[in-house]
Amino acid sequence: MYDPKSLKASEFISHQEVLDTLEYASENRRNAELIDSIIQKARQRRGLSHREAAVLLDCELEDRNQEIYALAEQIKKDFYGNRIVLFAPLYLSNYCVNGCVYCPYHYKNKNITRKKMTQEEIRREVTALQDMGHKRLAIEAGEDPVNNPIEYILESIDTIYSIKHKNGAIRRVNVNIAATTVEDYRKLKDAGIGTYILFQETYHKESYERLHPTGPKHDYAFHTEAMDRAMQAGIDDVGLGVLFGLELYRYEFAALLMHAEHLEAVYGVGPHTISVPRIKPAEGIDPSKFDNGIDDDTFAKIVACIRISVPYTGIIVSTRESKECRERLLHLGVSQISGASRTSVGGYCEPEEEDQNSEQFDVSDRRTLDEVVRWLIELGYIPSFCTACYREGRTGDRFMSLCKSGQILNCCHPNALMTLMEYLEDYASAETRAVGEMLIKKELNNIPNEKVREIAIKNIDSIRKGSRDFRF
Ligand code: SF4
Ligand code: SF4
Repeated sequence: MYDPKSLKASEFISHQEVLDTLEYASENRRNAELIDSIIQKARQRRGLSHREAAVLLDCELEDRNQEIYALAEQIKKDFYGNRIVLFAPLYLSNYCVNGCVYCPYHYKNKNITRKKMTQEEIRREVTALQDMGHKRLAIEAGEDPVNNPIEYILESIDTIYSIKHKNGAIRRVNVNIAATTVEDYRKLKDAGIGTYILFQETYHKESYERLHPTGPKHDYAFHTEAMDRAMQAGIDDVGLGVLFGLELYRYEFAALLMHAEHLEAVYGVGPHTISVPRIKPAEGIDPSKFDNGIDDDTFAKIVACIRISVPYTGIIVSTRESKECRERLLHLGVSQISGASRTSVGGYCEPEEEDQNSEQFDVSDRRTLDEVVRWLIELGYIPSFCTACYREGRTGDRFMSLCKSGQILNCCHPNALMTLMEYLEDYASAETRAVGEMLIKKELNNIPNEKVREIAIKNIDSIRKGSRDFRF
């Protein structure tokens, strides 16, 4: 039975409810009256239910689809303005005891070099990331209780936060590690993490079990209920995601929104972010073997429909996607992107030798951070290195209520400009600095609150003179 308030995976992601939703969406894919009423509801910017969203995803009326794209773009502008938050992944260890068939880190893969960074190696990687200008990391590690126990993850987080190199600092560490216990989540919370991210991979239980044939990750319920345990442990910023290509995208889309509704129903706070990775080639992994791959147009429609269904949730797209694809998705709702990523363990200091192959997936966008920053500026976006909210205690429902009242705009915009100014001072090339300075000058005028604007102008001046780390 479907029950968004239940704590059981089989009830809050009810297979039957997903099937009924897909049937409803398919029956109504040309129902102009219903589609118009859903678009009308979405215009109120309070989100959509999974059933409503599924109808829009299936919509076959071209003029209505254009309205959906235009609305996604407008909602993106209203809530996120032209800011794009930047981050980088940091792979700590690729030891893994699981058997995920789509990931080269699965335990049976003997062709891959296994690596686990020492604290000294982490120090070197983080220094390299700081020298690029990064302030926000997402740490990643395979699941391995012997090689990567929670103590190793906690020690690594401590190390990362402790490194102060020149003007650099990592101010927010998001964590993407395997589903674990409430007790371990509490330890992560105490270590000061930002968002806890865990991709569901697929919500389809039967496929999930087939794709995860061995290891602790095989347990669908334990994995799907992980966010509940994280919330119970006090981590109220959680990041959802599915790996598109494993199962039918319509199924994943409906279930992903059901998961968001479940978190909202039980904890009063939806997901902080949703990631939209698509399956990519890697050592021993051929994406064409997974027959549910989605093309760029479908992918864009998914992003647009997520944007209007959960307006307050950040959408993340990684360097798995090409520059062209990322550019299209930025318009439709993506609010965070990774830049200059290395998806191998230790890859920031030591680029991989041909025969090592420890990348988790092939990166499509291989530009430097400076190139990504300049590209964003030239497209009219403000690259933001802001990490203010969790450091100010604005997490979970406190964050959401600020978001819903529109007040977050008086934080995000000046924070984006101040952190961009830091970047320009410390790391940018002359060319990026020139376009960045012009952008900051122009965008300072767009801070809605006069008092906030004055403070931001003063702070930016102080950054030029050497001060750092201002935030609203
Ligand atoms: S997806 Fe994660 S859990 Fe699965 S094999 Fe890869 S690293 Fe391990
Ligand atoms: S102020 Fe908060 S919501 Fe806005 S960009 Fe910074 S961390 Fe994100």
